[in-house]
Amino acid sequence: PKRPSSSGAKSSTDSDNAADAVRVRVAVRLRPKNNEDFIEDGDFTSCVELQPEAKKLRLKKNNWSSELYKFDEVFTEGASQRRVYEAVAKPVVESVLEGYNGTVMAYGQTGTGKTYTMARLGKDDPSERGIMVRALEDILASISSLTDSVAISYLQLYLESVQDLLAPDKTNIPIVEDPKSGDVSLPGAAVVELRDIDHFNELLHFGEANRYAANTKLNTESSRSHAILVVHVQRSVKVKDENEGASVVSSTDDLLAASNRVPIVLKSKLLIVDLAGSERIDKSGSVEGPMLEEAKFINLSLTSLGKCINALAENCPYIPTRDSKLTRLLRDSFGGTARTSLIITIGPSARYYSETSSTILFGQRAMKIVNTVKLKEE
Ligand code: ADP
Repeated sequence: PKRPSSSGAKSSTDSDNAADAVRVRVAVRLRPKNNEDFIEDGDFTSCVELQPEAKKLRLKKNNWSSELYKFDEVFTEGASQRRVYEAVAKPVVESVLEGYNGTVMAYGQTGTGKTYTMARLGKDDPSERGIMVRALEDILASISSLTDSVAISYLQLYLESVQDLLAPDKTNIPIVEDPKSGDVSLPGAAVVELRDIDHFNELLHFGEANRYAANTKLNTESSRSHAILVVHVQRSVKVKDENEGASVVSSTDDLLAASNRVPIVLKSKLLIVDLAGSERIDKSGSVEGPMLEEAKFINLSLTSLGKCINALAENCPYIPTRDSKLTRLLRDSFGGTARTSLIITIGPSARYYSETSSTILFGQRAMKIVNTVKLKEE
């Protein structure tokens, strides 16, 4: 990625040069077998075979038919949280620190490890810390507490309504899109400036408890809502003037030039999204009442996410982001200026062949999306 220019304002050639095509990176993670898999399956059979070195996955429909898929990363059930973070999320975090917007999303059937991968606090076992905690550790370690700031919002999207997990009485928060810049904001949501990582862990714990409580009250499960952590990073960097040749300060003139370096403020946003379960909960046709409402809305948001992914993958000029709140929220994270990583999570059991297959196809389509990265400056 191109570094910021010293003027703090981009010329048109600057922005042309700064355009840099980056494909959405897609990783697949297999959850370890659990008791239920053994009990339900008896003689356990798996429908997936991983080739982590080749970054390939074979999906077996039956003994005679299988397909081989290539991903950016393939994580076996033994892959550590640390490895998953470093391979999938860390590159996005690094680009956020350089002034780009970024998104890390988890998509998959309920029970396949989305929340484990994203939101695990790891209080009892720090090796289990998930992507949210590790990302904030890296961000907080890279900024200066004197000049920079990191602030978060933590939201839940349920039945097309945005709820604030840090201020639970705030519901129905509007999503505002700037018609000129295309930037998305949530002016009603609490934005909490972080003091340190302990402060973040407290907020995440509080937010997760609210997510659980809100869902208990609504008689639903957290797997029915999308959880979205928004991290606002503001970082000031001093850049070298283009005319300034040497970077080593060896004379009074150099010293003067160095002191003239222009500070610019980089503002960027990281979204970490734990999506609702991708299974089609109305497929039996037996749900009714509130469950049916829920099914419709989850299907609406994930279906419209799928449509946007397809449109982006096919390079369509029109991306239908207005169809659901989820895609409106993700609007400035897909295509355009953002860097995106997607983790698709799957279970090992052949019982869920069709869900696993649809998750893999979703990931395969997302691999075709190319984002044009441009530097965000104040
Ligand atoms: P989801 O968010 O997709 O519904 P969860 O993250 O709640 O799924 O995971 C379901 C269960 O499996 C949880 O008990 C979780 O701790 C466990 N689990 C998921 N992934 C892993 C993993 N990679 N290693 C160990 N346990 C896991």
